[in-house]
Amino acid sequence: MQTVAPAVARARELYDSGATRPLAWRLEQLGSLRRMLAEHRTEFADALASDLGKHATESLLTEIGFVSAEAAHLEKNLEAWLRPRPVAVPLAVQPAKAWTELTPLGVVLVIGPWNYPLQLLLAPLAGALAAGNTVVLKPSEHAPATSAAMARWIPEYLPGAAEVVQGGIPETTALLALRFDHIFFTGGQAAAKVVLRAAAEHLTPVTLELGGKSPAYVDSTTDLAKAAKRLAWGRFMNAGQTCVAPDYILAAEDVLVPLERELVTAIGALFGTDSSRSESYGRIVNDRHFARIAALADGSTVVHGGERDAASRHFAPTLLRPAPGDTVMGEEIFGPLLPLVPVAGRDEAIRMINDGAKPLALYVFSNDAGTRRAFAERTSSGALCFDVPAAHLMVPGLPFGGVGGSGMGAYHGEHSLRTFSHERSTLAKTFRPETLELIYPPYTKTKHRIISALAGMGAGFRKRLRPR
Ligand code: NAD
Repeated sequence: MQTVAPAVARARELYDSGATRPLAWRLEQLGSLRRMLAEHRTEFADALASDLGKHATESLLTEIGFVSAEAAHLEKNLEAWLRPRPVAVPLAVQPAKAWTELTPLGVVLVIGPWNYPLQLLLAPLAGALAAGNTVVLKPSEHAPATSAAMARWIPEYLPGAAEVVQGGIPETTALLALRFDHIFFTGGQAAAKVVLRAAAEHLTPVTLELGGKSPAYVDSTTDLAKAAKRLAWGRFMNAGQTCVAPDYILAAEDVLVPLERELVTAIGALFGTDSSRSESYGRIVNDRHFARIAALADGSTVVHGGERDAASRHFAPTLLRPAPGDTVMGEEIFGPLLPLVPVAGRDEAIRMINDGAKPLALYVFSNDAGTRRAFAERTSSGALCFDVPAAHLMVPGLPFGGVGGSGMGAYHGEHSLRTFSHERSTLAKTFRPETLELIYPPYTKTKHRIISALAGMGAGFRKRLRPR
């Protein structure tokens, strides 16, 4: 097992030196991160292809290019976002100036999952560096090629700013025993509980980016062919191993029948009639997940797809018609299975969604304003998207994160900067005139009247409280 303490000590030493605070240092790290991605894009793309069978274009869109765009967005806006924000000073404290300033937290631990092993480690890294922190990165052991590529290049491009600790549960456990100033975790709920318990020991603040079942509701007012293609893209991208993928579809039976036909057409258009021959279609990460997905499919009713090959870990895009109680409806699928679930209409769909844990994302395909409003007002989810799945990640101004069981905290763009900073309150008061004499003891009737007025509880206030 790799000894983890020296890496954390190095990160702490650089942070404590004060070198990471200036804007220039932060911009330099972001530029360096982008340079690393540009200069080694082929190596990173090859690693992602080796771990997950990702096509180079998909890796560019969802991993390498994604992080580069995030870093560029932070670089462009950082100076403006870091400007102190003036705050109004109430009469009782005047004359004085008050403002808030974003200050770095210290040493940040980022723990990543295997499904987007580069994006989900390096996008938080960009935010943490922009905020003036040093970072310890723990990539997933289940994407070993990507983990190795990052461990090779990060020390060269971000010396001292970021340390990479490779390994699995023993290394993460050792890291979690140490003190950090923030822990940013992306992964499943079981490991999230381990992280949260460990963080409690040091009272370390955490961001948890988790998963769960993200539903899609479709009604007859939408364009079913276009909706089907978007849903198939969102579900089967990265062979379904996407935290914000539509996990299942809810629709009235008279919508599900034509939608199923359109989904079959869409799957063919995206990946051909034999997805095992498509270079655009990914592979299941490992044998354990392959067996889990196969068991979910076999425990339900397959209406399209279902073909698989354990040796190459290819699992075809699959449509299911689950019966109530099928396991596939009881856990996050995280694979290329899409259950089609009939409901009477939007009210039943909303009831079903609210019966489960709060989803990371909720997708509504409807042109009906009342339906859109009903989902907006009567459900809770990390994100709500109309007519498109997963694309909210690509809008850097939108905070990305869950709620309830799907996570706590959010990031991307300015939200990353805020997540990895402490917004420090600052107050500067002058000695002259010494207005505080008015509130110092000894207390007199005059002071009582003044303090009542300052608190908005004077005579006028009592009059306002009287029933009309
Ligand atoms: P995971 O929870 O198994 O692993 C995530 C990380 O935690 C890995 O680095 C792993 O080494 C570490 N880990 C696992 N068990 C641990 C333990 N007992 N103690 C200490 N560390 C431990 O998750 P995964 O299988 O890599 O990813 C799948 C899950 O992540 C899904 O639930 C998915 O929805 C979720 N996810 C969420 C997002 C998001 O942005 N919200 C993105 C991708 C994946």
